[in-house]
Amino acid sequence: LPNHNDPVNYFALDIGGSLIKMVYLVKNESNETVLRFARFKTADIHECISFMQRKRSIFYETVHVTGGGAYKFASLLEDKLSTKITKFDEMQCLIKGLNFFLKNLIDESFSFQNDQKIFEKSSPSESTYPYLLVNIGSGVSILKVNGDDDFDRVSGSSMGGGTFWGLSKLLTGISSFEEVLELSSQGDNKQVDMLVGDIYGQGRDYKKIGLSTDVIASSFGKTIMSKTGEETPKMEKADMLKSLLYLVCNNIAQIAYLNAVRYNLKRIYFAGYFIRDHPTTMRSLSYAVNFWSAGQIKAMFLKHEGYLGSMGAFIEQKT
Ligand code: ADP
Repeated sequence: LPNHNDPVNYFALDIGGSLIKMVYLVKNESNETVLRFARFKTADIHECISFMQRKRSIFYETVHVTGGGAYKFASLLEDKLSTKITKFDEMQCLIKGLNFFLKNLIDESFSFQNDQKIFEKSSPSESTYPYLLVNIGSGVSILKVNGDDDFDRVSGSSMGGGTFWGLSKLLTGISSFEEVLELSSQGDNKQVDMLVGDIYGQGRDYKKIGLSTDVIASSFGKTIMSKTGEETPKMEKADMLKSLLYLVCNNIAQIAYLNAVRYNLKRIYFAGYFIRDHPTTMRSLSYAVNFWSAGQIKAMFLKHEGYLGSMGAFIEQKT
């Protein structure tokens, strides 16, 4: 927690394209100050505002806000909350939040190997820099972090969490993200994706260039393998979701890998609310980074994956 002798800003919001992430301080029964986290759909910002109104007793003179919504909803927030808001840059907040979590919490960062979380033992030091931060929100931001306050946004992609979530809805009609994740973990992508083996014949690898029989040659490719006149095969929802999750994760991991190579970085932190501590997502991102880098670059994940920006806004001071 920030030094309590300093002014404490009790509420901070990160208002993104999909979700509002909130960090706030409350006093528990033993009168200790406790940091809490909450999220709302950005489209339901009125729920977020009512929540804050109910907790009015812990209001401070200003609410720290970051993300695009800090601009889009500035006057709505100020009107409804009768409080000033202070806006902070979203990339700056991401880095502030990440460095804060890494420095102050044990067991914050981990790699995902053989479906196990391997936590980093020592807290990061100066030698952790430079590293790559890949924040997977609605879209993807890729930042090269050189030091505490020193970073460049080196790349990005519009194929992110919003893409996965949007296409999942269109393909399955499911309206709960949690249900989509649950179903995706039961799916078999081989029913939907065209594999190297589907092209070369089952069991045959394309050895000359090191592609094994079960490598995905074309995501969703089985959909178009039917004979002329034959109907497109019916695909199970779970299988399509697994294939879609792989498609999005593989694409992000490949862009991340290429940027890591471009700047000679050995460590990539993946964050953003898209990850949701979901094993298939973390396995797939780790596998792809390991595959492309031949084990030279490490994919790392974070316990507070979705709250970097809001945490950064919470501790950020007005300059
Ligand atoms: P942003 O700041 O752009 O809103 P986030 O880091 O909050 O980005 O991530 C948003 C993404 O998180 C969504 O596009 C979706 O893929 C994923 N997500 C995870 N949980 C949920 C949820 N309960 N509702 C909606 N999206 C969710």
